Amino acid sequence: MASITLKDVVKQYGVGKAAVPVIHGVNAEIRDGEFIVIVGPSGCGKSTLLRMVAGLEEISGGTISIGDRVVNNLEPAQRDIAMVFQNYALYPHMSVFDNMAYGLKIKNVPQDEIKQRVDAAAKILELSHLLDRKPRQLSGGQRQRVAMGRAIVRNPQVFLFDEPLSNLDAKLRAQTRIEIQKRHNQLGITSLFVTHDQVEAMTLAQRMIVMNGGRVEQFGTPEEVYHTP
Ligand code: ADP
Ligand code: ADP
Repeated sequence: MASITLKDVVKQYGVGKAAVPVIHGVNAEIRDGEFIVIVGPSGCGKSTLLRMVAGLEEISGGTISIGDRVVNNLEPAQRDIAMVFQNYALYPHMSVFDNMAYGLKIKNVPQDEIKQRVDAAAKILELSHLLDRKPRQLSGGQRQRVAMGRAIVRNPQVFLFDEPLSNLDAKLRAQTRIEIQKRHNQLGITSLFVTHDQVEAMTLAQRMIVMNGGRVEQFGTPEEVYHTP
């Protein structure tokens, strides 16, 4: 677990005269173990901000820290983060176990440690009885849990979610929301969750960052954000 600190974070796409500023100096202090939802209209910069925390997008100015480490120039793999994306993209020919183990295998984590970490994650996610199955033999909700399992086995300090529910039907979306909340209560991993869905934001957020036009408009609990006079 770790805090996340954004200090005067700026982003522009392109350089010189062609530069287009999209994030205009964002400041935020996210506490250790908090579940934060970043919400705002399409194009306001949510995804860009998340991708900068992940290290998938360069920072044009300011600093981003995870714990007490400035991560501006660190590769994604050095940031102790795990991402859950919109498309889970499980490997169809691999078992659930191998899907969850894959990221550890390519990092040359020893076999017995891989087994231990996958088993532990499977237990948390109630997937232990499904480890031999292929993705096509799973329900939508189970597949989604495998995708979370892949992130959990990395033992990240931070979870980053980029609209992970937007391709799901309404029922699965509601189920998965509950699932994510349950796991957060269990694991307490600091989480940043991007969505344009206000209901999702209100139900999941401990605090929410409301963005507009590349700026933070509000930062507070859902009660504070929706009940301001
Ligand atoms: P959101 O996630 O809130 O929908 P984005 O972070 O995707 O917003 O985009 C913020 C702004 O940055 C938008 O105006 C978008 O068009 C622009 N943008 C995003 N990615 C690029 C890129 N690779 N090159 C240029 N502009 C981009
Ligand atoms: P390496 O340590 O050799 O870079 P990784 O297993 O960390 O190998 O994965 C390679 C790249 O893919 C890294 O940039 C890593 O951050 C990224 N990556 C893989 N899976 C995830 C995930 N679930 N969440 C975030 N990043 C991931």
